Amino acid sequence: MSPDCPRCGRALTALSVTYRRNRWGGAPPSPRPEQWWRCTGCGWLGYRRGADRPLRPMRRLEGEEGTCPFCGEEDSNVAGEPWETETGELRDWLVCLTCGTSNPRCLTPPGGG
Ligand SMILES: [Zn+2]
Ligand SMILES: [Zn+2]
Repeated sequence: MSPDCPRCGRALTALSVTYRRNRWGGAPPSPRPEQWWRCTGCGWLGYRRGADRPLRPMRRLEGEEGTCPFCGEEDSNVAGEPWETETGELRDWLVCLTCGTSNPRCLTPPGGG
């Protein structure tokens, strides 16, 4: 069963996001642990960590930010909602939909601002 789009209520379409980098020993690509969904109606994109977990929205990044630094694919990075760490840094989570690489990103440089 597909969940409904949190924005427009249509049934979401499953999106396959697969690890394609650093497959040592010729291992085949494997899917990321999250379930990824997109809405063909309004363009909503997001994921959930399981069928009983809430959907989390992701936003597409454009331009330089949207280009994956690992595989070089354009318009393939998406970012989650920023959160503040214990030290007051603002971070968000970047995922490449092409090669499946994710990494946390620091939005406020330490010591700055
Ligand atoms: Zn929608
Ligand atoms: Zn990539």
